[in-house]
Amino acid sequence: MTAELIDGKAAAQRLRARVGDLATRFAEDAGRKPGLAVVLVGEDPASSVYVRSKGKATVAANMESFEHRLPADTDQADLIALVDRLNADPAVDGILVQLPLPAGLDADAVLTRIDPDKDVDGFHPVNAGRLATGLNGFVPCTPYGCLLLLRERLGDLSGLNAVVIGRSNIVGKPMAALLTAENCTVTIAHSRTRNLPHHLAHADIVVAAVGRAKFVQGDWVKPGATVIDVGINRTDDGLVGDVDFESAASVAGAITPVPGGVGPMTIACLLRNTLVAAHRRAGVALDADAI
Ligand code: NAD
Repeated sequence: MTAELIDGKAAAQRLRARVGDLATRFAEDAGRKPGLAVVLVGEDPASSVYVRSKGKATVAANMESFEHRLPADTDQADLIALVDRLNADPAVDGILVQLPLPAGLDADAVLTRIDPDKDVDGFHPVNAGRLATGLNGFVPCTPYGCLLLLRERLGDLSGLNAVVIGRSNIVGKPMAALLTAENCTVTIAHSRTRNLPHHLAHADIVVAAVGRAKFVQGDWVKPGATVIDVGINRTDDGLVGDVDFESAASVAGAITPVPGGVGPMTIACLLRNTLVAAHRRAGVALDADAI
């Protein structure tokens, strides 16, 4: 292996510590802690684990955690009514509805009901539009975490060629928008892309968000490139990313491991977004870019 390992766990710990300090300062200024409400419908075991760890991380960052667990047979109207109550609750700065929702519930209707200024997941179309047009909003946590790792490793990204593999609303599209705003030349590759290795041959930055284990091969990667692996795939060999780590690490200049790369940054960015939401709602100044 020649690539430098990008330690997302350590970067996330640093970010969480900074957010925790700023949350304490916010509480002194505003007379209350930043608050994050997390809604879980049903008992999906993976979602339950995520919600528990989000709650713990929220409290550890000196914020208030409000957990709402609803039965799997909750109907749409009751879920919407809960979102409305959280929208109106002054102690709640951020609202997150854990996906996927049980069958029969309309996730789009629920996500678009969240007040865009409390939408710390950044999934509301208003926030997607703000990101696309360069306005202040909330950026989805996973691509934002990838951007922070890239900035930490490369500094100014201006003029670099970036290939984002995947065009989901949660990862690929916002990632491409963020890199465009950083003045990268961005290619979005997806399931219909022809000759992906041809595109990767010119990429200084590769972000893989495909959802296929070990999909990106080392001999596709430009020597010295920075490779960010968003993938989380459970296989017989354990958790693996969307990049074939062994072969890519012998060519890349730097690479994120799975686990311990992008994953830990996601929760840290959720806390960051909640901190930003609290400041904006309370009218307390904060240099969000400096967090
Ligand atoms: P998704 O299934 O919504 O999107 C996958 C994308 O990959 C699609 O846009 C599709 O066009 C593209 N794709 C599929 N086959 C392709 C191919 N052969 N060539 C090029 N592109 C192809 O997935 P998602 O929600 O964007 O997630 C992607 C991966 O990231 C998954 O492994 C997921 O588990 C992981 N993920 C990780 C985090 C985290 O916190 N680390 C967060 C979200 C998602």
